[in-house]
Amino acid sequence: MDLSIAPEIAQLAQRRPARDRSADPAGHAIPRGTLGDHADDLTTLAAAPDRWPDRVRFDPAAPVRIPLGPATWLFVIPPGHVVECDCQLATLIAGEAAENGRPLRHGRTLVHAGRHLVRSGDAGYAVSLHTSVTSKG
Ligand SMILES: [Zn+2]
Repeated sequence: MDLSIAPEIAQLAQRRPARDRSADPAGHAIPRGTLGDHADDLTTLAAAPDRWPDRVRFDPAAPVRIPLGPATWLFVIPPGHVVECDCQLATLIAGEAAENGRPLRHGRTLVHAGRHLVRSGDAGYAVSLHTSVTSKG
């Protein structure tokens, strides 16, 4: 992997361990077996870069969608680009990105219904992790 074109990837080596996911930021218990479990899976995967970093590719011309499983993928988005997304859950891995204007954050999962747009920040590449809960393949 050529780190010189994407300093954001250096953040991957600095990921903090996942915190307790049994409650949302307000302290409310997250139900098991629902979106909460999928959110756990997503944040666990996001915190385990050994499972996917060699798949990350950077294309300065266009966003790259990298499948990690039947319903899970990475987006690697060049600075200032937008890509359409149909995930239900998303989290940020590196750089800056927003979905429909709502910022993605490290260690936080954003929940969606329906298609939306993912926009990277202007300063560098964004790497985000997405999953489609309802997709069965
Ligand atoms: Zn998405």
